[in-house]
Amino acid sequence: MSIVQKTVLTIAGSDSSGGAGIQADLKTMEAHRVYGMSVVTALTAQNTLGITGILPVEKSFVEKQIQAVCEDIPPDAVKIGMLPDRSVMEVVAKAIDKYSLKNVVLDPVLSSTSGTELTRIEAREYLKKQLFCRSLLITPNIPEAQTLLSTKEGGDKEFLIDSREAMEDAAKKLSSEYGCNVLIKGGHSSFEREDVSADLLCIRPLGNAIDTEFQVIWLEGKRFDNPNTHGTGCTLSSAIASNLANGHDLKSAVSEAKKYIEKCIDAGLKLGSGRGPLLH
Ligand code: PLP
Repeated sequence: MSIVQKTVLTIAGSDSSGGAGIQADLKTMEAHRVYGMSVVTALTAQNTLGITGILPVEKSFVEKQIQAVCEDIPPDAVKIGMLPDRSVMEVVAKAIDKYSLKNVVLDPVLSSTSGTELTRIEAREYLKKQLFCRSLLITPNIPEAQTLLSTKEGGDKEFLIDSREAMEDAAKKLSSEYGCNVLIKGGHSSFEREDVSADLLCIRPLGNAIDTEFQVIWLEGKRFDNPNTHGTGCTLSSAIASNLANGHDLKSAVSEAKKYIEKCIDAGLKLGSGRGPLLH
């Protein structure tokens, strides 16, 4: 008997405590019954209390890993997470073109929740201009969307998202400036009811027809009173990529992934003395 499984590749950083990064991605893929593969872009020493060290992987070795995977097991979808610097970003952009990688879901990881910078500030422009346009979907949270829309280096209050309308404006702006679909995650919002977490999916018009409009889809869910949410962004983007590999369209891939993440948070795993991980 032979078994055929869809394949998903994560290109991201490693989290030694297993809650975020590559480890969260592979756990998520396993739970979605897809075959998970990984290209490590950086090692991090971290636990539930924070990050104590980062060691970026040399760009030539990131390239070697991608080549080894893509020339043998072409992925049905790709999740991109932590890209520590511009040299690694260049390798990833080249690989997307060279191997015609499809269903690319990019989580624009800028800093960890504990405040450590995961992507060099000076590489942000390259990320926006060269990687967003090569992705099917980008998945910033509210603080990340604010930063991405700010022109000042490192300034995150220039574009303020303080209402659902501002969230819609931000999603449309990111989508039209960088040519990708956008999911803004509302988990950090201060303007919703305490028990609501509303994400916004903005699907851009196809083709050049002037009269077509963005499709704006609100996905409402429950906000949990649970501090153990380490790796939530990594898990969500991997779940979306897994669903796309399994044949879902974008809207269904995102809404099913949201249900998955709610289940993972609600399970209430308690590990470590800081912000703990999810149960997959
Ligand atoms: N470590 C790695 C390798 C990550 O990729 C990320 C987020 O993408 C984090 C840590 C941060 O996770 P969190 O902000 O959920 O703690």
